[in-house]
Amino acid sequence: MKKVLTTCPYCGTGCMFYLVVDDDGTLVGVEPSNEHVVAKGQLCVKGWNAYHFVNHPDRLTQPMIRRNGKMEPASWDEALNLVVSKFKETQAKHGNDSVAFFSSAKTTNEENYLMMKLARAVFKTNNVDHCARLCHSSTVLGLAATFGSGAMTNSISCMEQADCILVTGSNTTEQHPLIGSRIIENVTNNGAKLIVADNRKIRLARLADIHVRWKNGTDVAFLNGIMNVIISEGLEDKEFIKTRTENYEELKKIIADYPPERAAEICGITPKEIVDVARMFAAADKAMIVYSMGITQHTHGVDNVKSCANLAMLTGNIGLPGTGVNPLRGQNNVQGACDMGALNGVFSGYQKVVDPTTREKFEKAWSVENLPAEPGLTITTAIDAAAEGKLKALYIMGENPMMSDPDQNHVREAMEKLEFIVVQDIFPTPTSEYADVILPAASYAEKNGTFTSTERRVQPVRKAIEPVGQSRTDWEILCDVAQRAGYDGMKYNSASEIMDEVATVTPIYGGVSYERIDQVGLQWPCLDKDHPGTPVLHSGKFARGLGMFSPAAYLPSKELPDEQYPFVLSTGRCYFHFHTGTMTRRSQMLDREERFPYVEISIEDAKELGIYDRAWIYVATRRGEVKVMAHVTDVAKKGVLFMPFHFEEGPANLLTINALDPIAKIPEYKVCAAKIRSAE
Ligand code: SF4
Repeated sequence: MKKVLTTCPYCGTGCMFYLVVDDDGTLVGVEPSNEHVVAKGQLCVKGWNAYHFVNHPDRLTQPMIRRNGKMEPASWDEALNLVVSKFKETQAKHGNDSVAFFSSAKTTNEENYLMMKLARAVFKTNNVDHCARLCHSSTVLGLAATFGSGAMTNSISCMEQADCILVTGSNTTEQHPLIGSRIIENVTNNGAKLIVADNRKIRLARLADIHVRWKNGTDVAFLNGIMNVIISEGLEDKEFIKTRTENYEELKKIIADYPPERAAEICGITPKEIVDVARMFAAADKAMIVYSMGITQHTHGVDNVKSCANLAMLTGNIGLPGTGVNPLRGQNNVQGACDMGALNGVFSGYQKVVDPTTREKFEKAWSVENLPAEPGLTITTAIDAAAEGKLKALYIMGENPMMSDPDQNHVREAMEKLEFIVVQDIFPTPTSEYADVILPAASYAEKNGTFTSTERRVQPVRKAIEPVGQSRTDWEILCDVAQRAGYDGMKYNSASEIMDEVATVTPIYGGVSYERIDQVGLQWPCLDKDHPGTPVLHSGKFARGLGMFSPAAYLPSKELPDEQYPFVLSTGRCYFHFHTGTMTRRSQMLDREERFPYVEISIEDAKELGIYDRAWIYVATRRGEVKVMAHVTDVAKKGVLFMPFHFEEGPANLLTINALDPIAKIPEYKVCAAKIRSAE
């Protein structure tokens, strides 16, 4: 048996574990790492089972090309030459921006860096993006505007040091289980106060000192109401506001419109709940905000994030252990994919494409000319452009928009209109059914590289076994495409050489190298080879200098319940599955635990409608209808439905609305109007 220390391919918590390989070179198990700072000898159920899918018979093992409407095996030469010639042909006919590249939060930092380099340096377009657009683009923009850096301010270990934790829009014990465990330990062992603001009675809510079940989408009113109480009762941190922030008068002006009575009415809760939360949060020495996609996935997602930042600054809870604004990133490397510039408007390290000095720097480093200056299409706007016939070709690495993007019929229309689609992945997906070329990629267990966890920790990914069949690592495929397109600047002997290049052009990764991240990783910013990394951001000074109060007024969600569609539908994940289910649904243990698509419905609603637990029902919105199993539960609040989006046979995103935050372009996955009927 051989044991290889690597990083979990599922959530952004970033547990490291050992992959266990037998003498035949077959993956046979996973063992936790006792030494790892986050895992501490533990794993959640997904981590324990993170080896099953690797050898699943469905793995893509050979390149495929669509010929006469049918996918047929092809050689790597044929497939890659076709990709390059089709992309070049499309650009010659329709311009550089007629093609787009979807990078992936599941692939390594090195591969994301190369995808954005391929798009920008070789194909001269900023049409490159990845699924952070669908989960935390509002965090990146909201926290950059207020603090100057769009990442989790503190470390996971800080969860054990806070005196009060406000968890909002995060089902932490299910989505980031080991972070959830830290919170539970702090509450039960140290008596830390826990406030949960969530419509659902999630597991943490059962332990909370206060559980507020506001109406979905009223976060800004709720947070403004809390700040109103803090200011009117003189509980704000006056010294912090004076010395560390700006724009406070503007905040006060807007917040004055949200006395607890008005905020409570908007939120559908009592004024007392708002007052109690405000007093508890403001009274703590070290108070922390933890949030996830319940905050970000709204048409006012950026406003929600800014409001969390406002509350933290108002109470002086930034820059110290046990405090901060802590967005929990969903996928293993969504933080890293953002850091690497797999976003439409920035190079690696969030260096803006519109800045001529930055472009000049990258032109020099990459030995190219005329890098495109305007931000490109995002994942969401690229789908719109394809549906309108403006975007012609799409290269999709490790993404599954047919399952993950809102309003599946709209995505289908886009896929059908595209003239050429490349899908590079480890498994066939609903998206690959539309591909003209399929490129088989190596899994995380078959390659070297790095992932960056939610706490900005850059950690190693190590090859434990050989790639299956003819599959190749994503970075090798991308380099091959670049060379066939006539570019010589993407030749590397190893993933480590790519990271060395990243470090030279990306100040926040300036001191990162494979030698230094060998066992526990390094938290960025890590500016040079002697820099120890940064567990807590904004100590003494914000990344932008002063923290910017950015008040927001409450705006209702785009589609609210009415007579015809009386329920609010919210979507998300469940404990046993991950994202579009590509990997977890191919793990027999995980799929056995949660096998059918389902909707959570409250006991009251189920009684009224005569729906019993595990009955099949139809959920419909203005976009379509799906058949799912009813989970009748007190987790759900009356009038609100919750559906996970992992199930191809009951796709939640057939129902969701394609309404976007105007700044972050993130879809409103958490609120749309729905109705239900029995299927039996
Ligand atoms: Fe993997 Fe997240 Fe579970 Fe840790 S908590 S084992 S990173 S899925």
